[in-house]
Amino acid sequence: MIADYFEPESISEVVSLLDRFGDDGCVVGGGQSLLVMMRHGLVSPRYLVSLKKVAGLSGIQESPDGDLTIGAMTTHRDVHRSSLLQRRTPVLCQAAAKVGSTPIRNLGTIAGNICHNELGGDPPGALLVLDSRAVCVSVTGERNVPLAQFFTGYFETALRPGEVVKAIEIPSPPSDMAGIYLKHVIRSGDLAIVGVAVLLGLESDGKHYREVRIGLGGVAPVPLRAHKAEAILRGNEISDGVLKNVAEAVMSEVDPITDAHGTAEYRRKMVAVFVKRAIRQATEMALQKGKNS
Ligand SMILES: Cc1cc2nc3c(=O)[nH]c(=O)nc-3n(C[C@H](O)[C@H](O)[C@H](O)COP(=O)(O)OP(=O)(O)OC[C@H]3O[C@@H](n4cnc5c(N)ncnc54)[C@H](O)[C@@H]3O)c2cc1C
Repeated sequence: MIADYFEPESISEVVSLLDRFGDDGCVVGGGQSLLVMMRHGLVSPRYLVSLKKVAGLSGIQESPDGDLTIGAMTTHRDVHRSSLLQRRTPVLCQAAAKVGSTPIRNLGTIAGNICHNELGGDPPGALLVLDSRAVCVSVTGERNVPLAQFFTGYFETALRPGEVVKAIEIPSPPSDMAGIYLKHVIRSGDLAIVGVAVLLGLESDGKHYREVRIGLGGVAPVPLRAHKAEAILRGNEISDGVLKNVAEAVMSEVDPITDAHGTAEYRRKMVAVFVKRAIRQATEMALQKGKNS
């Protein structure tokens, strides 16, 4: 049963409260996942500490050198609609636009999404290809955790007891790379059976891949980068032959489960289909960018 609910106005008050309550305390962002978990009796915190009134946790900033900072309480809707992010990180805007339903996008936050770390979340794959970091704060100080190390298991993260995510940082995204996020669901509004984010850049000859990053969701205990597949593409010529090898590599890198939405075998087949599709589309976009620059 909930004993008390707090709405502190600073991050230092938040971490002090969490430190005081230990295992009995829990942070609330938009409440979209936490309240579902509480309703089903899967978690039962005694003290809820809301981030709603903490100053400076919402919004998106760009530093003079082009790095981006997204505040923890920024909603999926605000990520999707940000003109700055649409220009700098369209792959993330596409992923945010595909989260659940309108109410979830209006209230759910980007930090809540990564901290909840549910199988098939959309933003994590996009954040991984952007080499993002979570800025984590506790009473003992602040540390940056690369997203590649943040997800540790189903519903588990590298967050330490008493720590909150204050922001997500994205190092200046290269302007000549093209990004796309594709999501496979049977029923609209569901979490992804397979989610694929691709960010790629071509050599100046327009015939070879220079840099390719592939982020996957829904196909392993944690969102992941498909490093073997990326290595096959890097420096290689654009061709259907190379995509066949990439599809095989991706299938060997994932570790899907069977659940109500699809079997492990289905997910493995679909991830190959969607990775090839995403690479083809991102390649077209990169070629177009090259022509227009
Ligand atoms: C019906 C439904 C459909 C959904 N569909 C999708 C989908 O298609 N794609 C998708 O990606 N997601 C989906 N989601 C998940 C949704 O994205 C998350 O519910 C939302 O982003 C969580 O954000 P929140 O702010 O509401 O987090 P909360 O519900 O407030 O918190 C979730 C968890 O994260 C912790 N937490 C929250 N913020 C922080 C922080 N700043 N620092 C540390 N810990 C924190 C909380 O303590 C809690 O454990 C769906 C959820 C529901 C209920």
